[in-house]
Order: sequence, then C-alpha cells, then structure tokens
Amino acid sequence: MFEVVIGLEVHTQLNTKTKIFCSCSTSFGDEANTHVCPTCLALPGALPVLNKEAVKKAISFGAAINAKINKKSVFNRKNYFYPDLPKAYQISQFEIPIVEGGELIIDVNGEKKRIGITRAHLEEDAGKNIHESDHSLVDLNRAGTPLLEIVSEPDLRSSDEAVAYLKKLHSILRFLNISDANMQEGSFRCDANVSIRPKGDSKLYTRVEIKNLNSFKFIQKAIDYEVERQSAAWEDGKYDEEVYQETRLFDTTNLVTRSMRGKEDSAEYRYFPDPDLLPVLVDKAMYDEAIKIPELADEKVVRYQKEFGIKEDDALNLVSTIEMSRYFEDLVNAKISPKLCVTWLLVELNGRLKNGVTIETSPINSNKMIEFLKRIEDGTISGKAGKEVLDYLMEHPDEDVDTVIEKLGLKQVSDDSAIVAIIDQILAANADKVAEYKAGKDKMFGFFVGQVMKEGKGAFNPAKVNELLKSRLA
Ligand code: ADP
Ligand code: MG
Ligand code: ZN
Repeated sequence: MFEVVIGLEVHTQLNTKTKIFCSCSTSFGDEANTHVCPTCLALPGALPVLNKEAVKKAISFGAAINAKINKKSVFNRKNYFYPDLPKAYQISQFEIPIVEGGELIIDVNGEKKRIGITRAHLEEDAGKNIHESDHSLVDLNRAGTPLLEIVSEPDLRSSDEAVAYLKKLHSILRFLNISDANMQEGSFRCDANVSIRPKGDSKLYTRVEIKNLNSFKFIQKAIDYEVERQSAAWEDGKYDEEVYQETRLFDTTNLVTRSMRGKEDSAEYRYFPDPDLLPVLVDKAMYDEAIKIPELADEKVVRYQKEFGIKEDDALNLVSTIEMSRYFEDLVNAKISPKLCVTWLLVELNGRLKNGVTIETSPINSNKMIEFLKRIEDGTISGKAGKEVLDYLMEHPDEDVDTVIEKLGLKQVSDDSAIVAIIDQILAANADKVAEYKAGKDKMFGFFVGQVMKEGKGAFNPAKVNELLKSRLA
C-alpha cells in the first residue's frame, strides 16, 4: 500500500594529489595534522586558490552522466560550526553547481531504469574528530580534500534500486579514475533521504535523511529499517507525530536509525558567494580535454561480447572492478584466447584469491599470467596440470613459469616417438579390440585414447595422442 521514495546524496573525494584550495597533500592515513597549511587551517589572511584538476574531474563526471556543464559556476560559503571545520564555514557550490541535470541507468532484476541526477557540485571536505574516552581530538589532514557531491532526484523506489544506483555510480567514478571511492576509508559516503507515500500518490511526503552510510550492506539495511519505521507510524496513526524532517544516524550494531538532530533549512546556512574566490569559468580547451572520458564499464560489457564472443555474465564479471577489466585486457592484448582468459581469470585465479586478497593485490600479476597461459595454449602443459602450476605460482609468484613446469614434472609429452612407442604397445596388447575397431566398431577409438593417456600418466598431449593414434590405426 506504500510506495518508497528515495533520493541519495553521495560525497566522493576526488583523487587529486593536492587539496582543493591549497597545495597540501590529500594522502590518506598519515600522522594527524601533517598535511596542513595556513589556508586549510583557516589562519587569518590566508587565501584559497582553486585546484584546476578538481574542476576537470568534475567535468569528466558530468560528461559521463550526460549532464549540462555550467561554463560559469560559483563557490559559496556554507556557514556552520563544527570543531573539524576550522573556518566555521565550508566552501561549497549552491545556486550554480558545475554539473547540472544528468542521468544514470540502473539495472534491477533485469530491468533498466533511468535515475535523474539533479546536480553535482564541488566542495571541500571537513577534518575528522577523533573521540577518545574523556576527550576528543581533531585531525585536519582531510580538511580541504576536494569532494564532489552528487545529488539524485527522488527517483529510487526501493533499497535494491538505491544499492544498484550506488554501485553504478561507484563504477563510473572508478572507471573515470576521478575518485578512489574507497568506502572503508570514507572517500565514498552516502546520505539517504527516505520517505513513503500511499501508492498512486504523486506528491512528496516528509523525508528523513540518514547520514554517512559507508557500506552497501548498511545502506540497504538503514533504508529498509527506515521504511519499516515510517510505515508502522502511518499504520498506527502516528505518522505526523513520529515522522518529521530530521537527520538520523544508522546504528550499525543494533541495525536501527536514531534521531541525531532536526534538519537545517538551507536558509540557516546563510549561503553567500565566497568573496575570496572568483567564479569558475570553464574555457573551451579545458572543457574539450575534460570531456574526453575513457571507456566505461557498460561500454566494455558490450564490446567484450562483440569483440571476444564471450557471454554477458562473464563480461559483467570482468568489469566488476576496473582492476579486473585491466587485467583481462592485458591478457587479450597479449593475444591469449579470450575464452581461455575468462576461465583462468574468473574461475581459476578468482577462486584462489582468499582472505581479502583481490585482483589488485594478487600475487600473480597479469604479466605472469600471460607467461603461464602461453604454456597452456602451446600445449606445453595440459589444463589439468595448469591448475597445479597455478597453485604453486600463488605461493611462489617470483619463480619462472617454465622452471616451475619443469620442476613439477608437468610438461606434456608432445614428442612423437615417445607417444608412438606407447601406442604401439597398447595396440599390440589389444589385438582383438583392434580387429573390432577395423570391423567398424568406432567407439573402440576412445578406449585406445584412454589406455594411451593412462600409460602416459597425464603427461601426453591429448591432441597429439588423437592424431598419432589415427595414423597408426589407419
Ligand atoms: P539537503 O542538502 O538539504 O539534504 P539536497 O537538495 O542537497 O538537500 O538533497 C535533497 C535530497 O533529498 C535529494 O537527493 C532529493 O532527491 C531527496 N529528496 C527530496 N525530497 C524527498 C522526499 N520527499 N523523499 C525522499 N527523498 C527526497
Ligand atoms: Mg542532505
Ligand atoms: Zn593546506
């Protein structure tokens, strides 16, 4: 009876080397307050200077979502006080964001759906408060890291759609190489705005904002909980009392949302154009350069199927991360057969990556994999032996592939005379069966192959055995 309405705000850190208004490093995880300067500490008289790279990355994002790029955008001061915000205002964009009106196509249960993107604007990140038992500390290394805030239209209708949207967005940011979008490190954070309404109603009801969600799992659970809470209030006749515009936090231990504060209206932020910064003007040269964007996951899925004749599911798996698609492209660029790549990458290598090891940190890099797959392609080892070689290489990735094959004694025998000797031995021992074969019992052939392979202890190249056996029987 209810319809769920969700709009998402995503804050993603742009992966520029330096901060958005000063030249401090954006590097993560260093000693507290080591990447700070008068500008990001907000010392009197220090002035911001806009980082051009951040602007370019924002434009690239706009190009990827078919948005309008505003040739002129403006930075505002958003005034509020937090201990981790030294200026007591955040520089952000308000009336005129750099990116406006785009879209993202999501896939949910096999159906495509368009989700509108209202805007994406540039702003600076705050620092980080660290709460200890009886006091709090503040680390300003993060203060001034460029953020792109991406705001969706309230077009999402379920937590599944919300997760699909976020995954698609995450993929675009990674393939564009404009953000690490690392959720654990907080460089991709989401606020979910959630409301419900009677089915068929088109007006928007009161939204609740759930702040700072940073895992797909928690986003889904937080939305589901909130929908449950609002629906129950409605059914109990307590909607007006219990559902009001507010900011809530998700308690990841008890899996419930809790009220944090009433939601500010934008008027309370006293936005005004920052007098220290000129409007951002995007000239043609910069625009042309920034909209040249790399191939994204969706395009790769189509191309992989067309160019390499692989299945859609496999293509989707190959673009699950940019690292996986790069690895795959390294292999096919080295002229390894795409089907072989799919099996050895998606099944064999993936299956051996455990305990948080990913394709990025895989002990076997793509160069090693190429050397290895060449030995399967040229028949030096069988696929079966390949699995053993791969197991060994996982533990000893620095060893040379050919040396490993030699050492494990897994080299296939392709040498004709060795195989022929065994063939002749088998045929001689089975004269009766040879006679049956010659009398037309074709399926005896399989029996001979089996016997020869068995005698060869798995070291014979099966293609070779077939070929030689045919000629000996002829
Ligand atoms: P604020 O910064 O005040 O949260 P924004 O305009 O940046 O405001 O973001 C509002 C977000 O809330 C957008 O993603 C929008 O789609 C979403 N939204 C607005 N109204 C509703 C609603 N009734 N239900 C769910 N989401 C909503
Ligand atoms: Mg908001
Ligand atoms: Zn600085």
